Amino acid sequence: MAKEPISRATQQFLAGSPFKLWIGGQWLPAGDGGTFRSYNPSDGVCLAELASAGSADVDRAVVAARGAFEGPWGQAGLAKREECLNRLGDLITAHNDELAELESLDDGKPISTTRAIDAWVAAGLAHHFAGWPSKIAGYTPSVGAQDHFVYTRREPLGVAAIVIPWNYPLIHSVQKMSPALACGNAVILKPAQWASLPLIRLAELIQEAGFPDGTVNILTGPGPVIGAALAAHPGINKIQFTGSTTVGRSIVQASAGNLKRLALELGSKAPNIIFADADLDSAIAGAFEAGFGFSGQSCVAGARLFVQEPIYARVVERLAGLARAARIGDAMDVSTEIGPIIHKTQADAIMAYIEGGIAQGATLVCGGRRLTEGPYTGGNYIEPTILTGVRDDMTVAREEIFGPVVPIFSFATEDEVIARANDTSYGLAAGIWTRDVARAHRVAAAVKAGTVWVNTYDRFDAAAPFGGFKGSGYGRDNGHEVIDAYTEAKAVWVSLK
Ligand code: NAP
Ligand code: MG
Repeated sequence: MAKEPISRATQQFLAGSPFKLWIGGQWLPAGDGGTFRSYNPSDGVCLAELASAGSADVDRAVVAARGAFEGPWGQAGLAKREECLNRLGDLITAHNDELAELESLDDGKPISTTRAIDAWVAAGLAHHFAGWPSKIAGYTPSVGAQDHFVYTRREPLGVAAIVIPWNYPLIHSVQKMSPALACGNAVILKPAQWASLPLIRLAELIQEAGFPDGTVNILTGPGPVIGAALAAHPGINKIQFTGSTTVGRSIVQASAGNLKRLALELGSKAPNIIFADADLDSAIAGAFEAGFGFSGQSCVAGARLFVQEPIYARVVERLAGLARAARIGDAMDVSTEIGPIIHKTQADAIMAYIEGGIAQGATLVCGGRRLTEGPYTGGNYIEPTILTGVRDDMTVAREEIFGPVVPIFSFATEDEVIARANDTSYGLAAGIWTRDVARAHRVAAAVKAGTVWVNTYDRFDAAAPFGGFKGSGYGRDNGHEVIDAYTEAKAVWVSLK
């Protein structure tokens, strides 16, 4: 393994530990002085110490955000919103490698990916939403009362709290805060404890981009304290939550007090379907990325692979070949394809799913081991794992594993696979691989999921809505849908008499 040395810029940044909370444009310790540690999942080494916010800090952040919303940010013209978001996009681009490095160190995503994708996508999101402020518009409905003229306005909601998980800290934070800011809202962001470090650096860039103090506030620390306090807080108008379905449900309940606007991006168990007529080279490469990219720790992971009977054995064999050959290693090694699992707790849970699946009768085709020695010492490594002989009612077929584990099922007909693909409480994403155009459209329409990929997988764009059906949540990121969701529609009636 050839691990890259930590760059001078990142070393300098990490020397700033212990890091503080970012409230009202100031760096402040937690009110009760609490801290927590951030670890590198590649080797278990402690990277930094961060402030652990409590409910008093949530109150302070709400006051700061409200002040910005009712003051300099709410009153800023559209050009100021566009300028700040554009500058943020430029700054993320200028610091691409540094942000990528921090993310790889903190969450274990391979550096080749974070450099090419995460920071770059985050910059693109800021630039995309920088174009929106001057395009947000109402309309003039044709009302029956001819002696009245009606127009609509789209107004910001106020203070939006954004709670994100650990798997895409840069992309999720920028994707969710940019439309909120473009619409004129102020933001409180609560990252996951396992991946907060890149967002401390991002906060510095947000400051440099010229947003007035308090427009964005960042609270690090435990979800059950901060996330729950944000969800229940009467001073918050919207909560955008991305994470597990269980916590999502608790957010719905906690938010009932002031009937907050809600957007929930939750769990998934995405079906990825390969028909016998598919271009097998691209389908197998796509299934590998869908299942094992970032060690399967993605909400859209192709977690149930359905393969039509005539090609089933061939696909299992070729996918297992790719899995056995994959280079597993430290996230800071440019040759690493599969990095570590984010945390020991998560690795334990994944191993329990693999062992449980085998105990329930699944066949282990490849992988299934935890790697703990030599170059893997101290890290949380699990081999890419393929299971066959999995019944649809087994736990590994139903629950989100969030790890490098792909059960492969065989099917006979289109109707059968549609029914099985939809037999889940989730509905975030699905993949279809076929050369038959009519079938592609039929199945895309029949699958109950917010995003369907045909002969491709894992594609996103700020212009295309993304979100879940069923237990995967409600509301959408991206597209014009997210702009509607960060504004209220107001109808103004004017008498013409
Ligand atoms: P999680 O446990 O639900 O945590 C997500 C966030 O919520 C973290 O910031 C967490 O803080 C916080 N949190 C924890 N308990 C909370 C509570 N009681 N009230 C409010 N906030 C609370 O999810 P995870 O295990 O980190 O992430 C994996 C899950 O996210 C998977 O289910 C995955 O499918 C889902 N996900 C969905 C999408 C999507 O777009 N649909 C994208 C990515 C991930 P701490 O962790 O710091 O305590
Ligand atoms: Mg970490």
